Amino acid sequence: MIYRGVLTKMQTEFLEPIQYYLVFENDFIHMNQLLNKSVSIKLIGSQCLSCGLDRPIYRQGFCRTCFFDKPIAGDWIMRPELSTAHLGKEDRDLEYEKKVQLQPHIVYLANSSNVKVGVTRKSQVPTRWIDQGAHEAVEIVEVPNRYLAGITEVALKDHVADKTNWRNMLKNDVKDEDLIEWRNKLKKFIPDEAKDYFIENNSETHLYFPVGQYPEKPKSLNLNKSIEFEGKLVGIKGQYLIFEDNTVFNVRANEGLVVELSM
Ligand SMILES: [Zn+2]
Repeated sequence: MIYRGVLTKMQTEFLEPIQYYLVFENDFIHMNQLLNKSVSIKLIGSQCLSCGLDRPIYRQGFCRTCFFDKPIAGDWIMRPELSTAHLGKEDRDLEYEKKVQLQPHIVYLANSSNVKVGVTRKSQVPTRWIDQGAHEAVEIVEVPNRYLAGITEVALKDHVADKTNWRNMLKNDVKDEDLIEWRNKLKKFIPDEAKDYFIENNSETHLYFPVGQYPEKPKSLNLNKSIEFEGKLVGIKGQYLIFEDNTVFNVRANEGLVVELSM
């Protein structure tokens, strides 16, 4: 079987274990069914996720022009504290920014290699945690807009990490943490504007990834360098495909590449 299409991050279903789907324009592949099978990935070209043109991908699946022009790639995406739609202030397209920013957002703690703080739209829970490969997570604050979530994250970053170590996440070099205890410990650092939105009563969410064999020394596949790769798929965690020979492929980091997948 050969599938061809533009890579976008895998769609997921929050089941035990998590189910992954690679979605192409006319087809989708249920990736869990490829576990323990030989899969080959070949680079064909690139296609910007915004303009659809055959241009080199700059960041986040976008060509350089779209990355700097389109509202979907504004700075407030990666840095929520820069959000201004709640003030009626435009960055690139106020209508779009209102739609995305003025909706419930969650500040959470997730543990993928260490405990980290993060922000996501409420509608993206637990998708965001799955994409990060977190094996446990808990919401700490639910606020009505992205700005409030952003300033809360910034304040908490002084007391907890905001990055994960992808190698440790993939090696499953992790330990269980009591995230409720972490949440209660961090409560006093939540900025005044967001204090009323603290979530007192909820429990940890646990996530189970379909991994048969963790890589001991993950090495990242770069299709721009090697064009084609073939290997036995032994696991999926976060947005990574894990192969038997320690090769790992970050689907999300390769959004916009046109590939041929055969199995
Ligand atoms: Zn483009």
